[in-house]
Amino acid sequence: VSREVQAHDTVVRFGSAAVGGDKFAVIAGPCSVESEAQLMAVAEVVKKHGAVALRGGAYKPRTSPYDFQGMGAEGLKLLHKANQQLGLPTVSEVMEVGQVDTMCEYVDCLQIGARNMQNYALLKAVGESKKPVLLKRGLSATIEELLLAAEYIYDAGNPNIILCERGIRTYETATRNTLDLNAVAYLKQRTHLPVVVDPSHGTGVRELVIPLSRAAAAVGADGIIVESHLNPCEALSDGHQALTGPMFEQLMQELKPFVEAA
Ligand code: PEP
Ligand code: MN
Repeated sequence: VSREVQAHDTVVRFGSAAVGGDKFAVIAGPCSVESEAQLMAVAEVVKKHGAVALRGGAYKPRTSPYDFQGMGAEGLKLLHKANQQLGLPTVSEVMEVGQVDTMCEYVDCLQIGARNMQNYALLKAVGESKKPVLLKRGLSATIEELLLAAEYIYDAGNPNIILCERGIRTYETATRNTLDLNAVAYLKQRTHLPVVVDPSHGTGVRELVIPLSRAAAAVGADGIIVESHLNPCEALSDGHQALTGPMFEQLMQELKPFVEAA
């Protein structure tokens, strides 16, 4: 995935979405798919304001086994329905090799979560699937380890990889993670793959998501993947970091020069 092998930028396309190249791509949606009403309502809002793809977890890697684990296959069907109704391609996390085939039927881009960045069997499986992959940096992974994880997918035959900086674990506790914007600038030099930022998990704080999204655009990221929920107080996961509808609209307003760049 090195620039020494390919000088020009890779653009990863799924449905009508393109990540990489000149336009800043915003992928948005809830942390978890919770119900048809919840998903459709937020999908309409993010689409209206210019998101190019809808995110939503059906299989959730929760720190506590007692927390909501996701809707599973039902959630995948709702994502599929949202895409059919709104024409908004979808991104959702795959957690196990056994889920890859089903996920490929229902969603347009497979997310590898931070906790699975070094699950090499899973990396090989999504590599063989040829579906676009959004690969998140591990909680304590170096940039080199992220690039080598991407090599696993590439080497298995799949060049459609989007890298994602989602914050790393440091000694700082004021925010959920420390968003490593160095990594974005560095990766843009080292690799031809598109790089997106996840300011939601990167900060864990709703009020910090818009400023860090602007920072992501300024540092040269190809886009962001951001959590949004129309009623965050009732969200079944990550409500404290979800942008409300009006906040999402404000975010898109502030990113306009990047989103609309020719
Ligand atoms: C998510 O996108 O909801 C998620 C679980 O992200 P991460 O793997 O970065 O923690
Ligand atoms: Mn989340």
